[in-house]
Amino acid sequence: MPQQVAPEGLRTGLFVNPAAGRRADFEAVCGGQFAHLALVDSADAALALPGIEAVDLLVIDLDHFDPELDHAGLARLVTARAGAPTFVVCPFANARWLPALMACGPVEYAIAPLDDADLADAIEARLAGGRTPQAEPSPRERELDALAALRTRVRQALGESEDLTALAERLCQALCGWPGVLHAALFYLQPGGDLQLQAQAGERNLNLAKVLGRAERLLQSPLRHAFPGLLAAAANTIALLDDLDKAGEPQLADALRGHGVGMVLALPIPSDGPGSPRGSLCLLFRAARSFSRDELDALAEISDLAAVGLRMADLNRESEEMLVRVTHLSTLDALTGIANRRHGETLLEQEIRRARRYKLPLALIAFDIDRFKGVNDRYGHPVGDMVLRAVADAAQKLVRASDVLVRAGGEEFQVIAPHTSAIDGLKMAEKLRTAIEGTSMPGVDQVTISLGVAQLGEHESADSLTVRVNAALGRAKRAGRNCVELAMG
Ligand code: GH3
Ligand code: MG
Ligand code: MG
Repeated sequence: MPQQVAPEGLRTGLFVNPAAGRRADFEAVCGGQFAHLALVDSADAALALPGIEAVDLLVIDLDHFDPELDHAGLARLVTARAGAPTFVVCPFANARWLPALMACGPVEYAIAPLDDADLADAIEARLAGGRTPQAEPSPRERELDALAALRTRVRQALGESEDLTALAERLCQALCGWPGVLHAALFYLQPGGDLQLQAQAGERNLNLAKVLGRAERLLQSPLRHAFPGLLAAAANTIALLDDLDKAGEPQLADALRGHGVGMVLALPIPSDGPGSPRGSLCLLFRAARSFSRDELDALAEISDLAAVGLRMADLNRESEEMLVRVTHLSTLDALTGIANRRHGETLLEQEIRRARRYKLPLALIAFDIDRFKGVNDRYGHPVGDMVLRAVADAAQKLVRASDVLVRAGGEEFQVIAPHTSAIDGLKMAEKLRTAIEGTSMPGVDQVTISLGVAQLGEHESADSLTVRVNAALGRAKRAGRNCVELAMG
């Protein structure tokens, strides 16, 4: 049975925790500090007591509470306190509750585990009306000004950047402008599901990639349960580390402390549908502090804004990639991956204009596989396709980077060769001929090609050049195949 709450004027306390053992422990350690201490097992039991707002100190120990089941009751309890001192002892794993409870009224907290002496000191400080430095609220006006400035900077960051990387960087810079923030980082889930450190800003000597040991595959990091930035993205929860030692990773704590970090807060960046968040925003503060309702609302709004901005940047990136893919598809031949006929015609026109402007020679080579119909007839069409690919690959390896290999249709190809005279074109054609002759095609007898070469005339059109080179190719066929013919001027 809960004890009766003592009358006003005395040091009265109320301790809430579902576990009888925790209640007994608290009474043993801190009972002496109260004139009257009531112990109850639930928020509802506490609310059932008369004069809940008159109790000098309410202590809520979140250990053994269930975040799903008990949250609403505890929120009602904090609200019912109407601003009277409330102290929350919060296991590190339950830290995501704190912002929600703080939103219901002023709440001071300590992250558990606390040893007996620390707990007794913390209770004494609250009963004496003292506040620890971490709970010192900033003056209201300054706080609201800072929030307004932060919102403006975040909106600007989102409005100015289209590209994901730039956006993430600007967002981090904007967050660093908030008083007390030493460093800010954005962790982002890449399309393949890899959580990466997308951006960070603030303390120049602080590189979170170094502190965390890596910048990618962060969901697989051993620190994913300890570092709030990773915890928030992995567990879709607000994560707060107000005392660096509480995470149980001494090296991490030392590294952060070494850079002047006293507290880390992270918020998940919501995804646009059900499922895991898109990442997290991570704020590294110089010193531990508590957050007002306005501040928490602002942070939630900022992570929502970030989600929208990042989604837009993602869409931009996707549509650019799509454009590249579509362009790619419309210019390349599906079987061989080289330029298709239409694209080849465009490129030939381009190269002709360039050659004319800079008064440089241009050669066009046309080649055709000899007796290719026989390959199809003997081995089947799929083998014919393989031969076409093998010929294209062998030719592609041989031509220079500035040359363009085109599948002009069927088993006919062209090489557009800028800066190339008829003599050099002949040499190149001969190289192609011997290369194809020497390329072994699996399961097929030797494959050869016949070639025509033409150099662009001074006022010649693409059509005329093509007609001449094809005529030369025809002569090579008539001359017995597997040979090169130069086009007449
Ligand atoms: P020539 O030495 O005179 O060039 O003889 P050829 O048999 O190569 O000439 P022809 O133009 O009569 O035959 C070309 C053959 O190329 C006919 C056609 O079926 C085949 N062909 C065209 N496109 C493809 C393709 O994409 N795949 C396959 N497997 N065969 C193709
Ligand atoms: Mg042929
Ligand atoms: Mg042909």
